[in-house]
Amino acid sequence: MTVQRAPYKLIGGVHVPEHKQSSTQSPIKPLALAKRLIIPMLQHIGEEAKPIVKIGEHVLKGQKIGEVRAFVATPVHATTSGTVVDIGLYPVDHPSQLDALCVVIEADGKDEWAAHTGIKDYHLAEAQTLLAIIREAGIAGMGGAGFPTGSKLQVKQQTPVDIVVINAMECEPYITADDLLMRERATEIVEGANIVKQILGAKKIIIGIEDNKPQAINAMQQASQSQAHIQVMSCQSKYPSGAARQTVYILTGRETPANGRTTDVGVFCLNVGTAAAIYRAVVHGEPSLSRITTVTGLGVQQAANYDVPFGTPIEHLLNQAQAQWSKISRLIVGGPMMGYSLPQVQIPVVKTTNCIIAATLEDFPPPPPEQACIRCGDCAQVCPVQLLPQQLLWFSKSAEFDKAEQYHLDDCIECGACAYVCPSSIPLVQYYRYAKGEIATQKQEAEKAERARLRFEAHTSRLAQEEADKEARRQAREQAAAQAREEAAQQAALASQQGAAPPAKDSKALMIAAATARSNLKKAEKRLLAAQQAGEDTSALLAEIEQLKAEVKKYE
Ligand code: SF4
Ligand code: SF4
Repeated sequence: MTVQRAPYKLIGGVHVPEHKQSSTQSPIKPLALAKRLIIPMLQHIGEEAKPIVKIGEHVLKGQKIGEVRAFVATPVHATTSGTVVDIGLYPVDHPSQLDALCVVIEADGKDEWAAHTGIKDYHLAEAQTLLAIIREAGIAGMGGAGFPTGSKLQVKQQTPVDIVVINAMECEPYITADDLLMRERATEIVEGANIVKQILGAKKIIIGIEDNKPQAINAMQQASQSQAHIQVMSCQSKYPSGAARQTVYILTGRETPANGRTTDVGVFCLNVGTAAAIYRAVVHGEPSLSRITTVTGLGVQQAANYDVPFGTPIEHLLNQAQAQWSKISRLIVGGPMMGYSLPQVQIPVVKTTNCIIAATLEDFPPPPPEQACIRCGDCAQVCPVQLLPQQLLWFSKSAEFDKAEQYHLDDCIECGACAYVCPSSIPLVQYYRYAKGEIATQKQEAEKAERARLRFEAHTSRLAQEEADKEARRQAREQAAAQAREEAAQQAALASQQGAAPPAKDSKALMIAAATARSNLKKAEKRLLAAQQAGEDTSALLAEIEQLKAEVKKYE
C-alpha cells in the first residue's frame, strides 16, 4: 500500500530545526520506579478529582484513588503499588505554577496490579459500554491541553462525525514521543482508533504523519494494511501542522470555524498516545497510568523516550537520563515553541507531559534584546491562522484590547511562528498572552458588574412590590372597616324603626366598626400633636377629633 500524500498544505508555518535525532536513537526505555510518586488529582483540563484514599492506606497499581462527579473530569489511579503517605498541595506541571492537590504514594517496589479485565472482542460491545470504560480509565488527550477523552466523545455533536483523525504530526522540535510510539506500538494505536470509530459510528480513519518520520509511517501502514477504512497520509514537515485545526485542514480540507471544534466539521481528532491508551483500557482493562515522555536537550547524556508512570518526579526522570545538572540552564516542558519553563524538579510527570528539555546555553542561548517593529510583515506571512500579528502586537502593547479582539486575537493559537521569524526578536506571543489575560479579566469584571446590576434591580423591584402589596392590604382593611360601619349603622337604623333593641355590642361588624373608630381617633390625635408642635393651624383637626370622639362614643 502506498502512502497517500495529504491533499492540502499548511497555510503559513515555518521550517524549524528539528533536533529530533538524539532522542530517536534507542527504543522506548522503561523507567526504574521512583520511590515516591506525587500523583496530582488534576492532570488536564476540567475538574479536580476528590481523593478516596487515606494516609496510611495500602494501594495497588491501577486502583482508583481519586473520584469525579463533573462531566469534564477524569478519575485518577495509583500508578504503582505502595502506601499513601500524604494528601496535600504540591507543585505541579502547569503554566500557572500553582500548587495542586496530590496523593503521594511511597512505592513498595512490587508494582502489584489491582484485579482488572478487558474486552478482547470489543467489536461486539455497545458504544455506551466502551465509553464508560474510557471514562473510568481516566484517559485524557495526550497531545495538547489534555481534554478528558470520555467527555470529548460524549459531547453532543450538531454535525455527525464521519472521520476520525489520528494526529501524528508531532511538529514541534525536540519532541519524538509519538514517533517512537508509532514505531513500536502501531497496532495499539490502530485498534484504539477503531474503537473510537466504532463509538462514533464514523466511516473512516485518517492517520496524518509528517514526512520526517518514515519509520513511523511504515509501522502505521503495516498495522493498518487490509483495513480499507484506514488511510495513512504523509504531509510536509512544517510547524505548526500538528495543531488540531491545521491537521484537520491538511488531511481533509475542512476548515474548523473560529471558536468552533473540529467535530463541527465532522472530524474527531485524537493523538496517537490517546488512541493507544484507549486500546489498553478497553482490551486489557488498564487505566491510564503512564505515558511516553521525550527527555532530551544537551543537559542529558541519555536522551530518549521513557515510559513514565504518572506522578514520577521530573528529577527522577532526568537522573535516569543521566542529567548533567551543572550544564542545565533551563528546563522546558513541551517543545521550545509552545512549552514553558519549569521552576523546579520535584514536579511530577502527568498525562500531558510529552517532553522535558534539559536545555543548556548551547541549546538555547539567551535571546537578543527586543527591538522596535520594522513593519517587515514577515510575521503575517507565516501565521497559520492568517492573522495580522503586527497589528495584534500594536493593540496589545497600547492596551487597545477591543481592537485586538476585532483583529481576532482570540483565534491566535499561540504557536509562536510569528515570533520565530521576527527580525526584531519581539516575543509576540507573550504580548498576546498578556492581552488575552487582560481581555478575560475585563470580561469577568463586566459579567460581575452585570450580575450586580441585575441583583440590585431585582431587589428594588421586590421592595416596590412589597410596598404596593402593603398599600393594597391597608386599603382593603379600610374598605372592610367602612363596610362594617355601614352595615352596623343600617342594622341600628332598622332596629330603631322596628322598635327593637340595637344590635349587640359584641356583634362582629360592630366590634370592627368600634375598633376602626378608635384607631382613627388615635391617628387624628397624633396628627394634632404633630401639628401643634409644628405651630400649624389645628382647627380642622380639632373638629375632626370631636366627630371621631362622637363616633367612638356611639359604640360604647
Ligand atoms: S516580524 Fe516583527 S518586525 Fe516584522 S512586522 Fe512582524 S512584528 Fe514587526
Ligand atoms: S502565535 Fe498567533 S499570531 Fe503568531 S503566528 Fe501563531 S497564530 Fe499567528
